Amino acid sequence: MDDFKCTYENHENDKIIGFCLNQKCQNTTKFCLKCLIDIHQDHQKDCIPFHRMIEFVNKPRQNLNELQTKFIKISEKLEKSFQQFFKTIDQEAIILENMDNILKDQDYSTFNEYIHILKQFYSKEKYNYICIFYIYKKRIKNKKTNSIKLQNNIRIRRNSTWQK
Ligand SMILES: [Zn+2]
Ligand SMILES: [Zn+2]
Repeated sequence: MDDFKCTYENHENDKIIGFCLNQKCQNTTKFCLKCLIDIHQDHQKDCIPFHRMIEFVNKPRQNLNELQTKFIKISEKLEKSFQQFFKTIDQEAIILENMDNILKDQDYSTFNEYIHILKQFYSKEKYNYICIFYIYKKRIKNKKTNSIKLQNNIRIRRNSTWQK
């Protein structure tokens, strides 16, 4: 940690004491005491010394954890309704297959028992529902895969830093 010194001219011997978290700041993010006074003077409240940095890590961490918990709950609920929906579709596919046979047997009174299902498909509304469900399911799956990829990337990077 001792060699973490400022790289600005005339600051060469000054120790870095923290990081500037101001997103608009165009200067080097790490700062020494001279930087704090000369370079980041108009936004010193955004210059966080090392000993306080933990607060700024933990707060978004906590917020994100809460959001993740919420998201997991919502996606579990969605997953349940997806399962339910796909189960219904499977059943309807079987019924339509049976209806084909019933029709061949000219058993119109039995056919009549399932006519409400045929009506739904006849209106095309049903297809729209099915498409929407498939699109959402795909999106949620992509989101999950992306977050797993990101976690793995961070892990790999940290491991390689430790090995140095
Ligand atoms: Zn700054
Ligand atoms: Zn400096």
